[in-house]
Amino acid sequence: MSVVPFELVIKRKNTQTYLCSHIQLEVDEQNRVLQCMVCGLVLDPLTWMLDHCMALQSAMARIEHIKKEYKDMCTTIEEKKKELRRIKAQIRYCEKNGNISRLASRSGLRKEVTY
Ligand SMILES: [Zn+2]
Repeated sequence: MSVVPFELVIKRKNTQTYLCSHIQLEVDEQNRVLQCMVCGLVLDPLTWMLDHCMALQSAMARIEHIKKEYKDMCTTIEEKKKELRRIKAQIRYCEKNGNISRLASRSGLRKEVTY
């Protein structure tokens, strides 16, 4: 089953919800209403749908925000990995050439590094 993306703009004058906390609903097709099977509350189908659409939109916005944060974190991790590889290469170079003070100057360290 594929999900067709769509954009829904919800303009509501009355933001009061008429929902109960139960999720078991009975659809009365003849009278075009929803009724909670637990507490008996009769719900307007359009109001129910709008409330759920708004909750879905909010969840989708949170998902997009989290995706962006994840992508930013991945970018930062890759940058830090490159930096780590560069520093390790500098350390290997300096160890090979016995010049640890060069490492300090390359890495911007002010303190004299000693073994
Ligand atoms: Zn209920």
